[in-house]
Amino acid sequence: MGNYEIFSQSYGLMFSLFAFACLFVAGIFAANEDKLFSPISFLLTAFVFDFLGTWFEKLAINAYEQGEGVETYVMFELLLFLISMIFMSLSASSFIAGASSKGNSSNLPVWILGSLGGVTIILFTVIIPAGDIVNNMRLIFPLVSFLYLAVGLASRFSSPHSNGYVLAFGVTIILTLIVGLKIFNIYSQWYVTPMSYILFALSFLLMKNNVSEDKLEKAEQEIDKYNQRIEEIIKLSPFPIIISRLSDDKIILANNNAIKLFGIRPQELDRYHLKDFFADSDNRRLLLERIEEQKEVQDFEVLIKTSSTDTPFWLLTSANIIDYNYDVALYSAFQDITSRKNREVLLQNQATRDPLTSIYNRRYFETEVNNQIIKSKTANQPYSVLMLDADFFKKVNDTYGHKVGDKVLIELAAKAERALRDKDIVARYGGEEFVVFLPEINANQAYKVADRLRQSIASIVVYSDDNQEVRFTVSIGVSSSDISDNVDTLIKTADEALYKAKQNGRNRVEVFTKEDLKKFVSQGVQMSNEEKKNQHPIYDKENTAEISLLDGVDAKDITNKG
Ligand code: GH3
Ligand code: MG
Ligand code: MG
Repeated sequence: MGNYEIFSQSYGLMFSLFAFACLFVAGIFAANEDKLFSPISFLLTAFVFDFLGTWFEKLAINAYEQGEGVETYVMFELLLFLISMIFMSLSASSFIAGASSKGNSSNLPVWILGSLGGVTIILFTVIIPAGDIVNNMRLIFPLVSFLYLAVGLASRFSSPHSNGYVLAFGVTIILTLIVGLKIFNIYSQWYVTPMSYILFALSFLLMKNNVSEDKLEKAEQEIDKYNQRIEEIIKLSPFPIIISRLSDDKIILANNNAIKLFGIRPQELDRYHLKDFFADSDNRRLLLERIEEQKEVQDFEVLIKTSSTDTPFWLLTSANIIDYNYDVALYSAFQDITSRKNREVLLQNQATRDPLTSIYNRRYFETEVNNQIIKSKTANQPYSVLMLDADFFKKVNDTYGHKVGDKVLIELAAKAERALRDKDIVARYGGEEFVVFLPEINANQAYKVADRLRQSIASIVVYSDDNQEVRFTVSIGVSSSDISDNVDTLIKTADEALYKAKQNGRNRVEVFTKEDLKKFVSQGVQMSNEEKKNQHPIYDKENTAEISLLDGVDAKDITNKG
């Protein structure tokens, strides 16, 4: 800036030093920013050399005025100005090197000002080299420096935020003009230099702010790009995908497949919460616990309900936590596995249910009653078993056909299930025979239950193809915890009681008593092997123990003997 007047008055020097301090504080603060470090460091160094050069200029003038030798002062003055020019050029090239590469709006000023710098050098060295060489250099150094600095600053105009560079550029251009006016012997006031320091300090602060703003904008653009990429991937996915905010569970993105599957109205997307679609809150809690623990889950089965479907359905979900749209979000991809689940349920039913009547089958009955007996024994509770057989069922088939016979069996099973308690187990034992397990019921109570059941079955009316009323009855045998704690024995003894009911005229209930048990055991002992074979199969067994006595006899064989 080279205005030696600042060294003439003490207040001028004070103000200049203050402005210089401001310049440094702002410069060091701004140089913290990577992108600004080298251009500002070079520029501050250039200012230091310029300041020192100006001081030597003043010393030279003082010496001249007192008639002393000036050569040493002038040599130092010009050397310092030269170094200052080099650092300013370095600063300019650093500004250019760090300039944002996109956009080339700054190319024009760069070329114009760069050429002006070249012209200045040529002007003073080639065209008017002969004049006062010292005065020429005092002009050429700052002029070229400022022009190059202006070039560097202009190269940053293409940055998205550039008011700091624009201000510094403006100050530089004004300084260039002021220096240029010296050619015509027009000198500026001393305060121009400190003022320019202050303005540079201000522009440094603005530059720093510009860089921060650029960075923020770039980061935002990156996030936008990332979000767009996620959205594209999600839209193209063959699976239903939902992104929900973790903080409030609100759905922020759902692809078309998810919109269809969950019955979402896309224009009201932000009104939905992911939890609205969970049919089972425990199921959802388990999922969230897993995600919290492991940050993601794979192939987790969720039970989903929607407003458009009545029954909940099973989906397989894989979910993980992602950053999306400045939120922490849950990314959930789904796969419809309803048909797989249905198949599983069907297979399970096939294993435990009778296909005609849909009630439990014999296998299920036997295993489940085994468990129930263990429970009842621990709780010291009685229990009973009923064996039912439709009376003259052959006749129903013969008279009305097999289809009507089936209908009778279905109605009979349904009636038994309805008439009994939820905890009672009703099963089809085979053919037209059914078994019932009654927990907490002793033999006496079981007789009453069985008789009520017999009566309600007798009131069933089924219609034949030609609309004839078909009525039927059952005989029931009862056995209980008084007799045995073994499921096979209970079934066989109940069947024995059933045999008695058939013999005593059908459509009635008989109980297998302790006396019956004694009688069978003693009868079994008295009989010869040959006799036993012709007797009811219940006697076919060894008679030493109650269980082995009755083991392995098919209940069907017993009734068929009758
Ligand atoms: P009772 O038991 O009173 O002595 O006479 P019943 O006529 O019922 O005698 P039985 O046990 O000998 O006959 C059972 C009949 O039940 C024989 C068989 O054709 C019929 N049956 C078994 N399973 C089914 C079935 O699933 N559907 C139909 N329609 N009939 C069946
Ligand atoms: Mg029968
Ligand atoms: Mg039968």
